[in-house]
Amino acid sequence: MTKWVYNFGGGSAEGDTSMKNLLGGKGANLAEMASLGLPVPPGFTMTAEVCTSYYDNGEKYPDDLDPQTEAGLAHIEKLTGKKFGDAANPLLVSVRSGARASMPGMMDTVLNLGLNDTTVEGLAALSGDRRFALDSYRRFITMYSDVVLGVHHHTFEDILERHKDDEGYVLDTEMTAGDWEAVIGRFKDAVKRELGRDFPQDPREQLQGAIDAVFGSWMNERAIVYRRLNDIPAAWGTAVNVQAMVFGNMGETSATGVAFTRDPSTGENTYYGEFLINAQGEDVVAGIRTPQTLTKKAREEMGEEAPSMEEAMPDVYGQLAATFVKLEDHYRDMQDIEFTVEQGKLWMLQTRTGKRTARAALKIAVDMAEAGQITHDEALMRIEPLSLDQLLHPTLNPDAPRDVIAMGLPASPGAAIGEVVFSSDEAEELRKAGHKVILVRTETSPEDIHGMHAAEAIVTARGGMTSHAAVVARGMGKPCVSGAGNIRIDMDAQEFSVAGRIIKKGEIVTVDGASGQVFMGAVDMVQPELSGDFAKVMDWADEARTLGIRTNAETPLDVQTAKDFGAEGIGLCRTEHMFFEADRLAHFREMILATDKKGREDALAKILPVQREDFAAIFRIMKDRPCTIRLLDPPLHEFLPHTEADIQSVAETLNLPAKELMARARELAESNPMLGHRGCRLGISYPEIYEMQARAIFEAEIMVEKETGRKPTAEIMIPLVSSAKELEILREAIIRVADEVGGVHYTIGTMIELPRAALRAGDIAEHAKFFSFGTNDLTQTTFGLSRDDAGRFLPDYVAAGIMEKDPFVTLDQDGVGDLIKIAAERGRATRPDIKLGICGEHGGDPASITFCHNAGLDYVSCSPYRVPIARLSAAQAAIATKMA
Ligand code: PEP
Ligand code: MG
Repeated sequence: MTKWVYNFGGGSAEGDTSMKNLLGGKGANLAEMASLGLPVPPGFTMTAEVCTSYYDNGEKYPDDLDPQTEAGLAHIEKLTGKKFGDAANPLLVSVRSGARASMPGMMDTVLNLGLNDTTVEGLAALSGDRRFALDSYRRFITMYSDVVLGVHHHTFEDILERHKDDEGYVLDTEMTAGDWEAVIGRFKDAVKRELGRDFPQDPREQLQGAIDAVFGSWMNERAIVYRRLNDIPAAWGTAVNVQAMVFGNMGETSATGVAFTRDPSTGENTYYGEFLINAQGEDVVAGIRTPQTLTKKAREEMGEEAPSMEEAMPDVYGQLAATFVKLEDHYRDMQDIEFTVEQGKLWMLQTRTGKRTARAALKIAVDMAEAGQITHDEALMRIEPLSLDQLLHPTLNPDAPRDVIAMGLPASPGAAIGEVVFSSDEAEELRKAGHKVILVRTETSPEDIHGMHAAEAIVTARGGMTSHAAVVARGMGKPCVSGAGNIRIDMDAQEFSVAGRIIKKGEIVTVDGASGQVFMGAVDMVQPELSGDFAKVMDWADEARTLGIRTNAETPLDVQTAKDFGAEGIGLCRTEHMFFEADRLAHFREMILATDKKGREDALAKILPVQREDFAAIFRIMKDRPCTIRLLDPPLHEFLPHTEADIQSVAETLNLPAKELMARARELAESNPMLGHRGCRLGISYPEIYEMQARAIFEAEIMVEKETGRKPTAEIMIPLVSSAKELEILREAIIRVADEVGGVHYTIGTMIELPRAALRAGDIAEHAKFFSFGTNDLTQTTFGLSRDDAGRFLPDYVAAGIMEKDPFVTLDQDGVGDLIKIAAERGRATRPDIKLGICGEHGGDPASITFCHNAGLDYVSCSPYRVPIARLSAAQAAIATKMA
């Protein structure tokens, strides 16, 4: 018999934190907290396997589920001493989703379940507070109707607003028991009107409905989008947690809140959170009421009036702080917590590893390692390599003039410039059209995910640091300013006003998520400082990793950036990129258009000094670090003019009739240029091109050696080789040039970019001191997929489950990876000390870097901004190997 239901509560649990895949993050951690003796309301978790089984079997539950659910309910009844559906002593429960990976706000939740016209009176009598009981009932009807029955929550909000207007109330707290009773009557009428049947009164039916809805929400549109954006497989499913209700809305000694054991934005080691007195959990996240701070220090820093929890409820705050310490000690990581205080008693509703900004991740990892709580290796494993990207990008120049238009909470750091837009759909459309946009909303909801994704930054008028906008933006690594309370958005006029100023859609603003400020216009930005925690983590990564890290760069700016980021050499200098500047392009075109060897040699002679200077500039920066320079790769016609105007102007510069130029261009054009006359095939047809490049490299070496007294090392790389013979011929030509120049340091190697090259790596290694896997072309040629066109239909392949990911982004380990392994093995059999690297885009992708580590390559090479990511990924791969 499969166990579908796991109980927890009363100081013990059937599950634990290691069972995340089965119980979901929430369920596993509730179980763990219960076992730790923390105050967790009793409950049970229906496993994620119920969800997968439900979807695998045409939305039908397993046959033996019902009795297990019954037993789960009985467990809660026993521990609480209450009975589900009992008129005098009713048990109420919450029903919440909880997947393996946290998906904040994406799936459904129902609270206060079990209330009906009878049990509400029981709750009133038990609590001695009829108003509270009715408040809970109206919340239940609203939430259940919205989530389970599909009656939009606006229906209920409108009824409530009308009632408050009629009575002249402003706040919900002015509502009396009698008011709630009247409103509940109208809520039920509205349900009946919309659905043609009564609001369900049977608690069992309510429970089944809520469970169905939570499992159903796994497949709702926003959850699907979220999974796609976060690489969460649909096959994981979600668990469902049914748990005894505790009430934060039981008067002034009750409260609900969320907290982090450290600041999730900066990583600072201070408690951080928000709470609301006399409220239920959804009130905090919904951003309807402005929450109070947790600590006195935070209240003072933010200049708030309302007392902090530390001041308002010192006893419970003390219990909470003690719990923070216990949880951090136990989990050895920063925790994100939800709690409720019911009449002075603390209850823990959730703990999980807190999402944090990249900056906070670094600081927390470094602080914990330096405090001896975790090892350096553990610290490295805790930082998501790709998140480092957030730290590598510019921030506001502190000296730049600025015009502050609005102030809110610093919800997610980073700075961004863009055009103001007010709707998520529009944000997405404008983004597609190449605009950079700032999404400005009163508040965001899960329906805004696509707009937030499209925006450079998000600004909301309402909501705290844990509002939807803040949490999601931090997760996405986007700057966000939340709760900019003085902003008034006018959707009809498509503008917002703030302190008497009007900002219209399309106007440019700058958002600084680190300070919570919004500025008019574009504020100047500066490059980030890569010192402090960042430098420490990079040092630790360098100690841990065994893979070398190089960069793909050719301009002095890129080479310098990559070196500053820690590149140990150049893994790929694409020499063709050096020809795109106007002055060089003219000579290059002259070379291409030459009809004979003499003409080509004349043109090449003009290019030589320019190339020499390019290489010298690289050697000067890289000093004696290895520089792999690839000889010309793309098909020649890429350099020819295409538009008529271009052709005219080139014809004039070259003093050629336009007709002749067009004829030559036509002659050079190919139907399949990617598989055509490119790479070493050009070197075979026109040896003088490669000879010129080799000469430029060698002469640059000599030049720089004279200047600096150090010998640069060039690794000359021949692209697109498919046979040993090609390499042999080209290598001999390069050696001839080297001998002519004399006194130079170099090695010659090749790229492995074609399946045949991988298979014939044994012969090819006879002539190559190194192999660099050009996995862009190798992926293209292994799949027979054009790298320029596949983007149009690959999403269909990913959606259909044929491919897990775009193979041009993450290496296809089964196919392309096999070819790499074969080539490495055969190459090493011929030449045991052959140097092996990778220089396709995959060299900067963490999963592919892990593969390269495991395949025993010597280095990966990636674009400059990926270098720190690669250093960390390589360290993580080495640590994972050590741990295995
Ligand atoms: C490759 O093919 O992987 C490679 C690095 O070369 P390019 O992208 O320049 O074709
Ligand atoms: Mg290539």
